[in-house]
Amino acid sequence: MSGPLFDRWSALKAELPATARLLAVSKGHPAEAIRELAESGQRHFGESRVQEALPKQDQLADLSLSWHFIGRLQSNKVRSVVRAFPVIHSVDSLPLAQRVSRIAGEEEQRPEVLLQVKLRPDTNKGGFLRDELLSAWPELAALPSMTVVGLMTMAPMGCEADDRQALFQECRELADQLELGECSMGMSGDWREAAAAGSTWLRLGSVLFGPRPSASPPAG
Ligand SMILES: *Cc1c(COP(=O)(O)O)cnc(C)c1O
Repeated sequence: MSGPLFDRWSALKAELPATARLLAVSKGHPAEAIRELAESGQRHFGESRVQEALPKQDQLADLSLSWHFIGRLQSNKVRSVVRAFPVIHSVDSLPLAQRVSRIAGEEEQRPEVLLQVKLRPDTNKGGFLRDELLSAWPELAALPSMTVVGLMTMAPMGCEADDRQALFQECRELADQLELGECSMGMSGDWREAAAAGSTWLRLGSVLFGPRPSASPPAG
């Protein structure tokens, strides 16, 4: 393999600490770009809109890729997401988690779920507040048709690097407290702080694929 996409991918891979994996966020990019990266050895891809992801998954069905849903999960999309994505990073409330588990049971699926947490005030994003998560935890952990494997978080817009690192460390500590292995944190603009704080999934889009050609609405 060669070319700019491969070069960016291998440079990023070389910089990642051993504990952090790269989730290639392919929203806004065509199936051909995903195929090119898959041929380099990338297996995990993140998408944030189900209607965009499904045709791409179809076009790439000959590859054994692992698809992660990272966008805001609307309750009327749960069934299609559960059918198409074995990993969901963005379950942000107890009722939504209950719905995911119920529908996954009906669909004979058992997704791996990361619970989205909101550790700083942010009107643009959903997520469990810390205390909400702790009080809902016994119910979440007992849901029969999904496995909670970790937490996901995003830094609010305008959050400075120092506070981002503190925020990511708080997320890591909360995951450790709940004995959860995975922390999905870090995007193109802040992945170094997230990796230093113990992220296990860096969700990287533009730093990998370049700017998104189609204007995608903000997700999450
Ligand atoms: C789009 C998106 C990303 C990737 O964003 P970049 O800044 O392009 O790396 C990561 N996480 C979520 C939830 C996203 O919606």
